[in-house]
Amino acid sequence: MDLAVVDDPSFDEHRPPFPHPERPERLAAARRAADRVAKGDGRIDIAVRSASDDELARVHHAKYVEELGRSAGRWHDWDEDTYAAPRSVDAARRAAGGAIELVNALVGRRTSRGVALLRPPGHHAGPAGAMGFCLLNNVALAAAHARSLGVDRVLIVDFDVHHGNGTQDAFYSDPSVLFMSLHQFPFYPGTGSTGEVGAADGRGFTLNVPLSAGADDGVYAAAFERLVGPVAESYAPGLVLVSAGFDAHRSDPLGGMKLTAAAYRRMASELGRALPDAPIGMLLEGGYDLEALEASLVAALEGLLDPVDDGACFAEPDPAHAADLERARDAARPFWRLP
Ligand SMILES: [Zn+2]
Repeated sequence: MDLAVVDDPSFDEHRPPFPHPERPERLAAARRAADRVAKGDGRIDIAVRSASDDELARVHHAKYVEELGRSAGRWHDWDEDTYAAPRSVDAARRAAGGAIELVNALVGRRTSRGVALLRPPGHHAGPAGAMGFCLLNNVALAAAHARSLGVDRVLIVDFDVHHGNGTQDAFYSDPSVLFMSLHQFPFYPGTGSTGEVGAADGRGFTLNVPLSAGADDGVYAAAFERLVGPVAESYAPGLVLVSAGFDAHRSDPLGGMKLTAAAYRRMASELGRALPDAPIGMLLEGGYDLEALEASLVAALEGLLDPVDDGACFAEPDPAHAADLERARDAARPFWRLP
């Protein structure tokens, strides 16, 4: 299967002015992973462009887009974690435009699998502003673009160790985008409880799987088997976007989870197997240990391109995590039929 790859030299120009985990070296690791998996004819490079103001307005408030524009060309701190270098706004706009062009390739069926190696990441950026290393919400802008192309149902799965609060906010009342997030909880940014299920017509189209620290491969595999996979299958999306953060890996310096690369292979495979006809695009979010990021992205892409049962046997979740999963299933049950 061909893999579409989004990448751009501008993403390296988003550079921290002080030691910071979200740094250009991360992208070098992600590039090594993509190069290992997508070779020769099997790789389709997608040209990147800046997202337009109209495209940004589908998710972000005009006031924030103006503020962002004014910060271009200089150093700026959006909050204590979120820096912008002189060329960060250009990088963020091109990352968003790259995510949008990936959707064009997937919806236009140039290929059915893709990965966007993006910096800055996006899932904490909400309609009103930057947050948590993120300037523009790449995955939300990609989903909104798919809707504008006539895709009726878009599924976003977010397995970054942090809750994708910005993405949740963008579609909280919208049943045409189903957002499912697995994340450490309680943890930054503090949102993502099971009680957050969407509002108005969007009730049941936000599903959170908050997990206590220390979750291992077996917990994530079980979450996909018992909740994410079955819900994805019955939603029958026309497009799947993955907020692919790799900071739940056991080597990650920020996260408190215990995943190995095998869990990422399993999650990607489960999505491919549950939804054999839907195009799937992965968008890079977090992941701050360079070796873990590279190995995990390789495994995720392999699972995406060849979604077979790899035979890996994971341990049953321990009682605390089994209870976390049951709580998430209980929250979903009013809206979805579960095994
Ligand atoms: Zn993260």
